[in-house]
Amino acid sequence: ATPMSIISGVGRAAELGVLVRDADALQRASELDTLVFDKTGTLTEGQPKVVAIHTFGGVSESDALRWAAALETGSNHPLARAVLEKAQNIIAPAVSGFRTLKGLGVSGECEGHTLLLGNDTFLKQQNIDLSEAGDLLQQQAQSGVTPVLLAVDGKAAALLSIRDPLREDSVSALKRMHNLGYRLVMLTGDNPVTANAIAKEAGIDRVIAGVLPEGKADAIRRLQSQGHKVAMVGDGINDAPALAQADVGIAMGGGSDIAIETAAITLMRHSLHGVADAVELSVATLRNMK
Ligand code: ADP
Ligand code: MG
Repeated sequence: ATPMSIISGVGRAAELGVLVRDADALQRASELDTLVFDKTGTLTEGQPKVVAIHTFGGVSESDALRWAAALETGSNHPLARAVLEKAQNIIAPAVSGFRTLKGLGVSGECEGHTLLLGNDTFLKQQNIDLSEAGDLLQQQAQSGVTPVLLAVDGKAAALLSIRDPLREDSVSALKRMHNLGYRLVMLTGDNPVTANAIAKEAGIDRVIAGVLPEGKADAIRRLQSQGHKVAMVGDGINDAPALAQADVGIAMGGGSDIAIETAAITLMRHSLHGVADAVELSVATLRNMK
């Protein structure tokens, strides 16, 4: 192996907007067989929007949105930003006893009511009966929407449908990686039904969904213990442990600083074509050396 040609490979990668930390990272990139992608902000635009609000049990849409916004004022999750954007003309009342449950949702008291906002796992854990919302929940998730549920005083009150579309070039970039022979995996905290709908649209082979933030690195470790050489592609603070665990961590351009610091490869562009370029170039560089 001639280190010179690896160094020139690192240089060529930089010309494509792919910053490779060191020669060893390029070597490891050439040995991958599995590429794992975070969903929100990596495969998708990462700017979710509230596209519909359904209410139950006589709760008005304006109360539901006001209470949801009140809770999300305390959160910086992308879903919280979507709710606050929808409620931008509403004055959100104060919340006491605010709590964030990572990967599940948020809770607190507001205007004399006890509020829960989050996914179905969270509301079921809190013994909320979701039978009235059930069919709608399923149908929305199957269409690729993330359903966020509001409970008021122990009862299901509303379902907010939040959509975060695939980035426009994700499908073509993933097709390139498929054609290069990689197995493509989605890793997300979102619910399995929504995740599978989006994965199908994207052309992803396998979905690992409903993963709590601290479970993402474990999921990578499991793939490695099955003998796979794994790259993790992500953009968020949540993704840093998984980026560190992977054989090659790849941070999306414009992602969080911690993701970029942890990753062996950083993409200058916020496009998955950078991942395809990185793996393609690593293989070509190392092949030339043999
Ligand atoms: P990811 O970033 O992989 O989509 P997270 O672990 O951040 O996943 O969140 C997983 C799920 O938890 C979300 O899809 C949502 O259902 C729920 N959730 C987390 N935080 C919030 C929040 N602030 N408001 C509503 N739902 C939330
Ligand atoms: Mg993300």
